[in-house]
Amino acid sequence: MRLTARGATDVGRVREENEDGFLVDERVGLYAVADGMGGHRAGEVASATALEALRASVAAGSAVRDAVLAANAAVHEKAAGDAELAGMGTTLTAATLAAGGTLLVAHVGDSRAYVLRDGELRQVTVDHSLVEELVREGRLTPEQATVHPHRSIITRALGVDAEVEVDLYSVELRPGDRVLLCSDGLTSMVRPDGVATVLRREDDAERAARALVDTANAAGGEDNITVVVVDVEDGDDPRRWQHDLPGSRSSPRPPRPPPRRLLLSAGA
Ligand code: MN
Repeated sequence: MRLTARGATDVGRVREENEDGFLVDERVGLYAVADGMGGHRAGEVASATALEALRASVAAGSAVRDAVLAANAAVHEKAAGDAELAGMGTTLTAATLAAGGTLLVAHVGDSRAYVLRDGELRQVTVDHSLVEELVREGRLTPEQATVHPHRSIITRALGVDAEVEVDLYSVELRPGDRVLLCSDGLTSMVRPDGVATVLRREDDAERAARALVDTANAAGGEDNITVVVVDVEDGDDPRRWQHDLPGSRSSPRPPRPPPRRLLLSAGA
């Protein structure tokens, strides 16, 4: 199985800074998006710090979930050492290809992973957001959630605490699949049908990524917009990107933090 990936990020039409970031590292087979938050430039520092720590950890041989925990520690430590960065955090949605063609997605926050298969778009991740909880409790419809005034409040973020709970998803990839990672600046502006239409129309990963950004801007571009499009093709991969499945590597895991609700504003 061979993966081809392209990413794009844009400040949008309202914000003055772009606090999003993305990572496409084909050498290690790692794809990620991050949406930072914090005063001044702290959000930008948070997303960049998380992505760099993630990349370094995967390159050193860590499984993706452990690499996200390393990213949490890196952001948290940086925030603790600088008053201007105190309280910064970021979303992080990261994907690697494991043995046997399994895509592993490690996820914190309200950025998302989707898979387009046979023309149908399926959301892989569940948002850590207030409106997602209200939808699950039946108190909001998904349509109401997309326009809710508190839709940018997230319930889990990377780097805010010394520990973080990371959700892990696995997807058995097939040739022809297309994976999308994106920040909420895409999904708050463009409904899933619109995202699917663009992904079906643009065969080339780079053109698809740019077209998604353009579509979000055409709809208002109220937030930073970041996308990574990963195409799955048949064939051998010349690079070494086979990562271990969870459990196949012995790595210490930190104790699970006690249950609590952390409400953070994802907006600047
Ligand atoms: Mn955002």
